[in-house]
Amino acid sequence: MKKYDVAIIGAGTSGLSARREVEKVTDNYVVVDGGTLGTTCARVGCMPSKVLIQVAHDFHRREVLAQEGIHGGEKLTVDQQGVMKHVRALRDRFVRGVMSGFEEWKESHFIGKYAQFIDRNTLDLGDEKIQADKIIIATGSKPIFPEAWKPFSSYFMDTDVFFEQETLPEKIAVLGLGVIGIELGQSLHRLGFNVTGVGRRDGIGGLSDPVVKEYARNKFAEEMNISFGGVQSLGEADGQIILKMESHEVRADKVLLAMGRRPNLKNLGLENLDINVNNSGVPDYNRKTFQVGDLPIFIAGDVTGENGILHEAADEGRIAGFNAVHSPEQFTTRTPLAITFSAPNICVAGLSYDDVTAREGEFAVGEVSFEGQGRSIVMLEEIGHLRVYGCKETGALLGAEMFAPHGEHLAHLVAWAVAMKLTVTQTLALPFYHPVVEEGLRTALRDLDSKLNNPKKGPLEISNL
Ligand SMILES: Cc1cc2nc3c(=O)[nH]c(=O)nc-3n(C[C@H](O)[C@H](O)[C@H](O)COP(=O)(O)OP(=O)(O)OC[C@H]3O[C@@H](n4cnc5c(N)ncnc54)[C@H](O)[C@@H]3O)c2cc1C
Repeated sequence: MKKYDVAIIGAGTSGLSARREVEKVTDNYVVVDGGTLGTTCARVGCMPSKVLIQVAHDFHRREVLAQEGIHGGEKLTVDQQGVMKHVRALRDRFVRGVMSGFEEWKESHFIGKYAQFIDRNTLDLGDEKIQADKIIIATGSKPIFPEAWKPFSSYFMDTDVFFEQETLPEKIAVLGLGVIGIELGQSLHRLGFNVTGVGRRDGIGGLSDPVVKEYARNKFAEEMNISFGGVQSLGEADGQIILKMESHEVRADKVLLAMGRRPNLKNLGLENLDINVNNSGVPDYNRKTFQVGDLPIFIAGDVTGENGILHEAADEGRIAGFNAVHSPEQFTTRTPLAITFSAPNICVAGLSYDDVTAREGEFAVGEVSFEGQGRSIVMLEEIGHLRVYGCKETGALLGAEMFAPHGEHLAHLVAWAVAMKLTVTQTLALPFYHPVVEEGLRTALRDLDSKLNNPKKGPLEISNL
């Protein structure tokens, strides 16, 4: 039986990041992956979805062109096949980028098979077994599809197959209004499909702040069909699927599944290890070392069922890889940052509203509306609301939730200031150019600062020499 220092199960973002740390110390390692290579991010995730969003955004701009004195926009049309071809062309480019790095080591360090634990150091790869001193589980996740809906499966498509579609039918229901559902649902709507978004409770894009959430929900409802309450049963008639909800039903030609993702743990043979697992089957692991119990096993990326965010999957892979070839060290994770690339963007940076309410100690809230915000008026993107949170005791900036034009950039500023442990007053002493959407963030910070400090007299905002 072949013996390795380290075996990495999964050649996604997390597994590949782990590999980079492992190869610094040993050449006696192997990466095992039985699925399609190229990573979830590049093949069916972050990148193709962003291409579709860009196309939808560009087409949607036609609605404001006449107001800007540019005529003919109403004559623009969408060539569905052309759109999907473009999405796949750029997707293939991203996959080629991932695969080019692969070529250097694939021949000597890769086995294209699925792996199952026999014991803590041994993996069954089907027609062969291998042993490794350390094993890293980086098997990712897959879209949730309820078993009971199997008889209707021909009506469903998940994100694994969505980008392969040459054409799409007219009427599409998007099930789930989390990050993926909102991004793809709004894009399809803006490309002219008859879309109904169906959410379970009142959640939207991962927001927890009740004010921002309600604002976003209302704005989405003004733009497209959305309904909440969750699907109770399914039916079919005239070649359409019927999603039956408590008070009404939604009919569609196809349903895009976006109900979340489940860690890939099935058939991994975890039952052959003496470990505790949580309700989702995820082994207990140390969140600072990513070690599973005291076993020579590490776990990283979407398979932990925690974040489902690419930069976190990469970080966790790096930590798991490092700890697999060194005495395990504890690492702190980065300041939270989550972005939904809807229009406007939905973002959570630093502590969320739920986090600040759960935390001990009082907090204050500052806010701004982007209706009437200078640069947003210029861009004709005057929709948005942002709330920032600060600690009453220390004046520290804690975090923000927003539904804001160019929110992706504002969220980075907030996350960076939180990571630097800046107070709200110190954040306000940083430069803000004019006219930019960042001035909207400054308005919210000023509002917050006045609540944390002197309500009548705001700070001078310029550090003294
Ligand atoms: C539509 C969509 C949009 C997204 N957009 C964003 C975004 O904008 N920003 C962002 O930060 N994140 C986004 N994400 C999330 C991001 O893509 C993931 O967090 C990230 O790709 C997870 O990487 P991973 O390495 O954990 O898993 P993966 O890349 O899925 O890799 C897991 C690998 O393990 C292999 N495997 C599974 N089981 C076994 C086994 N038993 N044996 C061997 N191999 C196995 C699989 O074949 C796979 O190659 C998006 C995801 C989706 C689906």
